[in-house]
Amino acid sequence: MAATAELTGFIGLGVMGGRMARRLIERGYPLIVYDVNAAAVKTLAKLGARVAKHPRKVADHARVVFTSLPAPAVLREVALGEQGVKRGKKIKIVVDLSTTGSKVEKEVAASLRASGITLIDAPVSGGATGAEKGTLAVMVAGKPNIVAGLRNTLAIFGKVFIAGSEPGQAQLLKLLNNLLSQTALAMSLEALVAGAKAGLDPDLMIDVINAGSGRNTATEDKIPRAVLTRKFDFGFPIAGACKDIGLAIEECQALGMPMIVGSAARQLWQFAYNQGGGKRDMTSLVTYLEPWAGVEVRGKAARKSKRR
Ligand code: NAD
Repeated sequence: MAATAELTGFIGLGVMGGRMARRLIERGYPLIVYDVNAAAVKTLAKLGARVAKHPRKVADHARVVFTSLPAPAVLREVALGEQGVKRGKKIKIVVDLSTTGSKVEKEVAASLRASGITLIDAPVSGGATGAEKGTLAVMVAGKPNIVAGLRNTLAIFGKVFIAGSEPGQAQLLKLLNNLLSQTALAMSLEALVAGAKAGLDPDLMIDVINAGSGRNTATEDKIPRAVLTRKFDFGFPIAGACKDIGLAIEECQALGMPMIVGSAARQLWQFAYNQGGGKRDMTSLVTYLEPWAGVEVRGKAARKSKRR
């Protein structure tokens, strides 16, 4: 698929979708977009995108429609609902960039297939920064000839990895990635709170861990950027982490794995959610652990700004 005068559809223009849609426009793809959030639509309209009233309208005008949606039920509605893309006149391919799990992905793929529409499962990893810079990991599963035709377009978002030829396979891979990432963040925060309680300096702990064998994406990126600074602005909510880790555990348990460590991490995420933290940034998980120890994991820079 090359940039042509033909319209490409994009539904779901949030933290990830908004940035990916903008990259397509910058590479010369004329877009027709939809989101329930008027502000998100306006941003893309200002960049030149055409705006549709609902998903079906997008699919009336675009042969290929990308989706970047927050939850499995939303994907089902956007794809198969009353005003879903399934009823569009022109659509032939849906490329789902969301993390929705393999169960709904397979269900939606089967229903679309019955209408002659192919679903390509293409979840991404790398956060808002990766979406902005085009450095995401894009995991792809679907019909090989269609994937081949989309490869150059998907490369606009980042590095493309072929996970398999059946929708759902890339979703499982993405969930396994997030299970690791979210477990690593939860465990790293517990370790830092315990260290801070014992009087260890948070900046020093992170420096040492990152020079040693405990390092992971939380200690290298999320914690220095959003926890030590107390900015809590990584760009992914606790509700999203609960969704991902929940889907991951359920899919792995359905495969016969007990998932003992992952289930403990899931409980911690769920605890923060149940305390009302669903909309807060995932890095603010630390604020639910700190009261247990009576300390804060605050870096030097944030300590200075607190004194002022
Ligand atoms: P987001 O909540 O910022 O964006 C989702 C967008 O979908 C919002 O703009 C929302 O208004 C829109 N939306 C909701 N219901 C809709 C509907 N019925 N029709 C049309 N639009 C609708 O979420 P995000 O962070 O951009 O994540 C999108 C997907 O990508 C999720 O599945 C998420 O798990 C995954 N993901 C997120 C990150 C991240 O770091 N943010 C990283 C990788 C993958």
